Amino acid sequence: MKKSTMRSGFVSIVGRPNVGKSTLLNTYAGEKIAAVSPKPQTTRNRILGIRTSRAGQIVFVDTPGIHKPFTKMHKLMVNTALSALQGMDAILLMVDCAQEFGSGDQFVLEALKPAEAPCILAINKVDLIKKNRLLPLIELYEKAFEFSAIIPISALKGDGLDILENELFALLPEGEPLFADDVLTDQPERSLAAEIIREKVFIYTHKEIPYSSAVMIDAFDENPKRLDITATILVERPTQKGIVIGKSGKMLKKIGTEAREELERILNTRIYLELWVKVKERWRENDRVLRDLGFG
Ligand code: GDP
Ligand code: MG
Repeated sequence: MKKSTMRSGFVSIVGRPNVGKSTLLNTYAGEKIAAVSPKPQTTRNRILGIRTSRAGQIVFVDTPGIHKPFTKMHKLMVNTALSALQGMDAILLMVDCAQEFGSGDQFVLEALKPAEAPCILAINKVDLIKKNRLLPLIELYEKAFEFSAIIPISALKGDGLDILENELFALLPEGEPLFADDVLTDQPERSLAAEIIREKVFIYTHKEIPYSSAVMIDAFDENPKRLDITATILVERPTQKGIVIGKSGKMLKKIGTEAREELERILNTRIYLELWVKVKERWRENDRVLRDLGFG
């Protein structure tokens, strides 16, 4: 393909929590760069995932789910998602076909209206439903908004992703890639480490604990043979600290081991990971802590 016909640009992935936005970002980037868990609101910050192919380059912008915010932290998360509707070459709205259409979906459609960029709808998780349930959903969305295309996909299994990618490329302006072809994300390794540790907290803890937790990287030292990381898991209450540490430290050990093994694979280096748990009451309302964690 001639270079002059390459296309490149920014596409934000938006939608309600838990529809599979970060899963799609990771699949297209070809590496785990954004935390994924079965729990809503896993994503807290804007993360870029870069897809380079012969056709050009798509810079995907993963965003927190759009939902009704109930803490200062959640307000900042929703603002991040809404601001990702501006200044993009295209918008990818994702919905989960296994969930009934509801007021949350209506809210997201309203939020899309002022956006200037063309919008594609990806109907995700088609692996979970019978094909005949798709048509009514497609008809509903066709009536509700003028999408450039509506594509059923499974971000998890990979179905429909080539078609979706081609449709997205068609919306991008002609241009050279913005990042080198081996760059997968704009996230510094330090933030990636925090993201992966937080993912394990989200996967292994329950009830309010994942939502009351955050991960701060205290030290990140690269030696010739090993990467030394010290990180603190913030929680809001002493009882939560006890649960995150677990009986004889078992839970913390599991979180640490899984995070370390995954990071060793992604960063291709040996890692020594030291994890601490600290109580910081109401940190989700604390401007300074939120700023340190990269919100806003
Ligand atoms: P986000 O909140 O929109 O970023 O959603 P995540 O990417 O964190 O995914 C939420 C949950 O949905 C996780 O448990 C994923 O494994 C799951 N998931 C994502 N895509 C698919 C899919 O295509 N099929 C199925 N069955 N599950 C999916
Ligand atoms: Mg996410």
